[in-house]
Amino acid sequence: MKDLLTLAKYPFLSDAKIYVRKEAPTVQELLEDPLFERARLIAIDRLDNAFHHNDVGDRSLITETEALMELLSYPIARMITVCIGDSFLIKRYALGEAVHLYKNLLKEAIDFLLYSAKEFELDIQFDVDEDRLSISFIHYLRYAPTRYKTWKMINREMIDGYITINHKDLCRLLQEALRHRVNNELKDKICHPMVQSFFSEDITRIQNKVLMHRKKMETAPIGRLDVAKLPPCLKDILAAIQSGENVPHMGRFALVAFLSSLKMTANDIVKVFSTAPDFEEEKTRYQIEHITGTTGATTYTAPGCDKLKTYGLCPSEKIDELCRSTNHPLNYYRKKWQNETHSTKRSSQSKK
Ligand code: SF4
Repeated sequence: MKDLLTLAKYPFLSDAKIYVRKEAPTVQELLEDPLFERARLIAIDRLDNAFHHNDVGDRSLITETEALMELLSYPIARMITVCIGDSFLIKRYALGEAVHLYKNLLKEAIDFLLYSAKEFELDIQFDVDEDRLSISFIHYLRYAPTRYKTWKMINREMIDGYITINHKDLCRLLQEALRHRVNNELKDKICHPMVQSFFSEDITRIQNKVLMHRKKMETAPIGRLDVAKLPPCLKDILAAIQSGENVPHMGRFALVAFLSSLKMTANDIVKVFSTAPDFEEEKTRYQIEHITGTTGATTYTAPGCDKLKTYGLCPSEKIDELCRSTNHPLNYYRKKWQNETHSTKRSSQSKK
């Protein structure tokens, strides 16, 4: 069993769960006992930090009590997140935990990274003599942010099905593995009524914050774009990028080509991507300029519905009437503009 300080820093570890199960109080004590007030405050801090800064944040871990409170704050934060019941917040929280993990892992030795990788059942090989770290290409593809040039398979060395990675790469892959795990674990959980009632004020406060953020995202014009008029496929891709999720290359490509067709500038398109967790302005700008034809010889056109469906980027459950009468997201957007302009004109004429 790892020591308490390690468990406090890495509360997702199986050892941490065992420790909490063995040593920790009941849910009722955790929520009501003044002894655990610090853990409850940290839980809210985790959530606020995840929402505002994409990182659950650092706190002092000098004493044993501080470490214990930090560790206990993790299950409380997860329970509150479930009760807030918003998929955007769950994703933000998962990202906040994952980014925090990444920052901590960067300071760890290889042994601890290998130990953490086991937690996610990652198939990693470490050749001590050659100091070569590698991961099975299947696990690499599952978690690598392959939208970036350096992560593309073509730019990686592969030996017998294992991709060579470095210390920092492994930290990044573990970040992604934790983000997936937290997101998947929380999205189908049911809110504990005691958590709902104890944290009702904070839950409502955070729900309102998320609601305002959503509204701002839906109505804020990005350059010439009216987000409310986007088809469901591009709304999903945009929301995923803005909430810090990894979006497959085709999704990013579709969005950039679409925005470029609306004559948005490369600067405005870069802004759309700027909230991604590992946003790197120079690389993003290069990719955007390549797709929009500013730097390359080719200008790529925005993919139509057929292509988006082939790549699994058309959310069939969200398809509406306009989707059914079009075969291209650009046509959808234009028709929505036309429909709304006509109905605005009609209603102003009927008022005269
Ligand atoms: S039908 Fe076309 S426009 Fe509508 S969500 Fe699917 S891909 Fe997008």
